[in-house]
Amino acid sequence: MKTIAIVGSTGSIGETSLKVISKNKKKFKLIFLSAHRNYKKLIAQSKKYNPKNIFLTNEKFYKKIKSRKLIKVKNIFNNSNKIDYVISGASGYDALDLNIKLLKISKKLLIANKETIICGGDIFLNLAKKNNCKIIPIDSEHHCIDFFMNNFLQKKEIIKKIYLIASGGPFYEKQIKYNEKIKNVIKHPVWSMGKTISVNSSNFSNKVLEMFEAKILFNLPPEKIDILVERKSMVHAIIQLENNIFFPIVHYPKMEIAISNSLKIQFNENKNLDNISLNFSKPKNNKFPLVHLGHKILKKYSNSGMIIFTVFNERLVDLYLAKKIMYGDIVANLVKLFNKKTIIAKSKIKINSIKDIKSILNFAKNYKL
Ligand code: NDP
Ligand code: MG
Repeated sequence: MKTIAIVGSTGSIGETSLKVISKNKKKFKLIFLSAHRNYKKLIAQSKKYNPKNIFLTNEKFYKKIKSRKLIKVKNIFNNSNKIDYVISGASGYDALDLNIKLLKISKKLLIANKETIICGGDIFLNLAKKNNCKIIPIDSEHHCIDFFMNNFLQKKEIIKKIYLIASGGPFYEKQIKYNEKIKNVIKHPVWSMGKTISVNSSNFSNKVLEMFEAKILFNLPPEKIDILVERKSMVHAIIQLENNIFFPIVHYPKMEIAISNSLKIQFNENKNLDNISLNFSKPKNNKFPLVHLGHKILKKYSNSGMIIFTVFNERLVDLYLAKKIMYGDIVANLVKLFNKKTIIAKSKIKINSIKDIKSILNFAKNYKL
């Protein structure tokens, strides 16, 4: 029996993980579940799945919970035995600190939280090595590439390009209204996900974040990373080799597959590819200007630029979801901000330590948008 824990169990990744685990009850012992503030759902999960402990990363809500399973966040790191699998389904850049601490108590960290990979960068990956913790990406594109590289690729140098495949989101063939309503924006044609990532998918900022994530995880030069659209989300990544052979990696659009695969359990579903036609296209720059901005940040700036984009984007999405700005303001502001001299200068700063990361994060968190 393997030990397992989930951070962000009340979210979309968390719930899918619980579904996978509950189908394989005999294989796993659940150590903890966590939420940020949704204590009601966490308590309901605690009753249903019976973990050893639960915690909230926002401790303000502690007084509302009466459960002997509830522990303080700091106490989860007192565990002297490393947990076999920890699934990080927390959202946002604020989860970086928590993910860094999780490296100490996890043998394998299954990480969906792309913001941590981007903001933590090489420093996070090196800390993982130091702590003997294996990082397994479960963002579907990166999971597929990681799987391909580990199982089928002899050497990374023969990769000419990797394509991260986007679904195109709800507006790919439609006109985008500047004041588009939240319900239309988060109505993803294929995936059912948290609100923030759904907004990010609609304007390609999710794919931009994924390009950054890929650069860090696979240590590839920017010119070897690109984006393509496949509307059915059946293809997650394509790897093109130097000899111009392309390897598309295909699976049904279900997060259960990346999660099960990472937990070394079979995902049983009787599906085949009969009558499925696939079509690839490039997103248009004038309709989705973030793709161009993403490439520019990737090519011209350092990790600081990626961190600043991640934080600005999340702040703008939060403002949009709180109905304080319009939908079109997200992209318009990002493009405008990255034309400013101060932002360009900050985006070029090299990062050598956690202290440098914190300093860029603070700059981006406090910059007046
Ligand atoms: P959700 O919004 O559905 O869930 C987020 C979870 O994280 C909730 O449990 C939430 O708790 C918790 N949380 C929020 N803020 C914090 C914090 N600061 N520290 C710790 N926990 C926190 O998001 P998703 O599940 O959709 O996405 C999670 C991550 O996975 C994101 O980084 C996303 O980009 C990535 N991802 C998601 C995919 C998907 O299919 N959903 C696919 C690929 C990647 P509470 O409920 O209390 O708010
Ligand atoms: Mg993805």
